[in-house]
Amino acid sequence: MARIIDAPLTGSEASGCDPRAVHGSWGALDAAARRGLAYDAQVRAETDALYERVKHAIPAIEWPAYAPLIAAINRMKRAKNAVILAHNYMTSDIFYCVGDFRGDSLQLAREAAETDAGIIVQAGVRFMAETSKCLAPEKTVLIPDLRAGCSLAASITGADVRLIKARYPGVPVVTYVNTTAEVKAESDVCCTSSNAAAIVEWAARTWNSDRVILLPDEFLAKNVAAQTGIKIISWHGRCEVHERFTVEDVAELRAAHPGLIVLAHPECPPDVMAAADFAGSTAALQDYVVEKRPGKVVLLTECSMSDNVAAAAPDVDFIRPCNLCPHMKRITLEGIYDALAEMKHEVIIPEDVRVRAKRAIDAMLALPKEKPHAFETGRAEVAVELV
Ligand code: SF4
Repeated sequence: MARIIDAPLTGSEASGCDPRAVHGSWGALDAAARRGLAYDAQVRAETDALYERVKHAIPAIEWPAYAPLIAAINRMKRAKNAVILAHNYMTSDIFYCVGDFRGDSLQLAREAAETDAGIIVQAGVRFMAETSKCLAPEKTVLIPDLRAGCSLAASITGADVRLIKARYPGVPVVTYVNTTAEVKAESDVCCTSSNAAAIVEWAARTWNSDRVILLPDEFLAKNVAAQTGIKIISWHGRCEVHERFTVEDVAELRAAHPGLIVLAHPECPPDVMAAADFAGSTAALQDYVVEKRPGKVVLLTECSMSDNVAAAAPDVDFIRPCNLCPHMKRITLEGIYDALAEMKHEVIIPEDVRVRAKRAIDAMLALPKEKPHAFETGRAEVAVELV
């Protein structure tokens, strides 16, 4: 079975955590009891098979705390024709035991557009729920916790984008999906970390422009500029999880774990990307581990990723640096249960904003479906113009 080895980092401001401590078995036990749910024979029969997917992450003694909520959520989904879209950064109890569709932002956006379900519960952050609502306006989209935000989405507004467009007329605007619907509505096309380089190249060709505006992640913009050679104009947004990783962390990890393979997400700073062995979106990182089966690996991204990839690569050891996203961790089993039971919190977007945001998302989805892009590591940093 895969081993998960926590590696608190000293070179960065890594948060250091156990993702299960955020939800915690005692918390789940208490939450289940308060909702009149217990671990009985029926719950055991309904959840035993699910435990096999998460036994590397949840000790057997704690399972009776999670199982009643999991069984109740799965029953409610069937009764209400609901699906749960679970992002890669969800804890394993949510990701494997109640998630119907799992993946990165791009994969979840495609599922939202195609599902026949009447209700979508977004096990992710608010901008993801807004993307689902943009693509599936006839469906009820629920976000279990209204506080599940994102430092990137909060960094820029639609008014900011209008000012940037006025300053650079004719230059195509690509926005990362980690933005509000209001920001997407001001954009020509969206991108994710899976397809950012391809979309920027496509936008430069389509608009016949030597420059592209790529908002709002400064580091993603620099990393895409290093891959594509296209001049990029960007913004000072940063992911509060990935910006914490440093080259000192990478050196420290390699020294402590000889033979370690270092994988980085493109929201990391460019010097961290250059020091990694492989870089790409969460989907690309998962594919790399599953296909290459490195003996020992570290994923420089949100810490729940390691637990979730471990289920698909049981022979790999994961060194987990434990930078958690406080927004993603707002989403809990009890929050999902309450969202479905009480039909809260429904995501509503003004129709004119939704239609314009959908246009930008559709422009991305219309491009050919490709394997998640792998960023070439070791490249020199390229400057981008920050507005
Ligand atoms: S991990 Fe970073 S980009 Fe993702 S939701 Fe959290 S703050 Fe936003």
